[in-house]
Amino acid sequence: MGMRRIISSIFFITGLELSSNTIIITGNEEYLIIDPGLPENADRIIEAIRLLDLVGKRGKILLTHMHFDHFGAIYRLQYYNSFELMIHELERDYLERGDPFYTVANIFGIKEIMPIHVTKSVKDGEIIKIGNINIHVLHTPGHTIGSICLYIPEYKILVSGDTLFSNGLFGRTDLPTGSIKNLLDSLRKLSGFNFDILLPGHGSMLTEKAKKSLKLALSFARDFW
Ligand SMILES: [Zn+2]
Ligand SMILES: [Zn+2]
Repeated sequence: MGMRRIISSIFFITGLELSSNTIIITGNEEYLIIDPGLPENADRIIEAIRLLDLVGKRGKILLTHMHFDHFGAIYRLQYYNSFELMIHELERDYLERGDPFYTVANIFGIKEIMPIHVTKSVKDGEIIKIGNINIHVLHTPGHTIGSICLYIPEYKILVSGDTLFSNGLFGRTDLPTGSIKNLLDSLRKLSGFNFDILLPGHGSMLTEKAKKSLKLALSFARDFW
């Protein structure tokens, strides 16, 4: 099912077709799912929870941004377990009112979505701890207003959502709340962090020398802007 272990407690699951990729981080009592993906991706997540022996532990979900291809699986996962849900504070309302336009559910052919209760909003500089892994929240608007990247300094890992892809491209900035100017600023901000491994929202990951993708993205974004 396309699950790969990055380090002992961090796993990367390649998304099914248009679905986002998913990252699972495990601790002793709890685990974190970053971007569960589209509804059809839920079976993969449930299989991973079983395989990783996480059944019965406290499950949390963190979204890199408010797009349906990153969170749609929540509707199916909620039947399976009750998860705490976290997203950047600027995008909380869109999920809580079930907005099909800002979440781009409409692009996936879904005209109405159920409101989703957000347990906790996160912001830049915050650190989320799962087991012995410290996950730093970096606010990186551009693809959407509340997009975040997650930085794990101890292992030089960057979870980049749709802000940066392995091939040096980045998510579109023409969707609601998108801004190429913000995206360029966010890429510049990422230059200040030391990472070797890139776990992006779509496409393949990079397990070494990941910063080259950022250099490429910066040159593309400058051309755009
Ligand atoms: Zn996406
Ligand atoms: Zn997106």
